Amino acid sequence: MAGFFDWLSSLWGGGGSSAVKSKLVVIDPGHGGRFSGAVVNEPGSGTQITEKSITLDIARQLRAELEWRGWRVQMTRDDDIALAEEINADLQARTALANEAGADVFVSIHCNSSDNPESEGIETYHAPQSEAGGRLAQSIQQALIQALPGHHDRGVKAKDFVVLKLTAMPAVLIETEFMSNPRQLSFLLDPAEQGRLARAVAQGIVSFYGQATPV
Ligand SMILES: [Zn+2]
Repeated sequence: MAGFFDWLSSLWGGGGSSAVKSKLVVIDPGHGGRFSGAVVNEPGSGTQITEKSITLDIARQLRAELEWRGWRVQMTRDDDIALAEEINADLQARTALANEAGADVFVSIHCNSSDNPESEGIETYHAPQSEAGGRLAQSIQQALIQALPGHHDRGVKAKDFVVLKLTAMPAVLIETEFMSNPRQLSFLLDPAEQGRLARAVAQGIVSFYGQATPV
């Protein structure tokens, strides 16, 4: 239906901004339920921290940022749940949800981890064959690095992640920072920093559409 509303909006002289506002973003908080993603012990407290809980916190803040800007948002999950019993079925369910909803943009939120506790930085992935996905990834990565000075820019990368390969719209997967780096774990757990991350991703999506040239 987004196409219809875009058409209607242009018919009645609605500006570009009203057309942009009707776009649907599907946000995918990585992992969930039995699939915890990376798990680390917080230095000091020893509390076990799971990737699935951080990705959901950031995703909820991103939803708020986008809705505040007038975008429509759907989440692949809004609880600590898996979408299927088996990992591939879980990933495919996330892409099916986005495809069936007719999403304009798909954003999967993840946290990185490494055996080297000094590894750090932010990187954004897109499917190798997706030119639009590549531009979306550039736009989001650039917004993140501008908004979060001091974080290492690991760049934009192309990879055949299931959620990128099977989605029918520009899609990105963001590795927000390294949970395995104690300093960056504190960053990832801080609600204010999560808000900065979310705001930058929203700005990256907005500027992707702002710069998009008509086909
Ligand atoms: Zn992950």
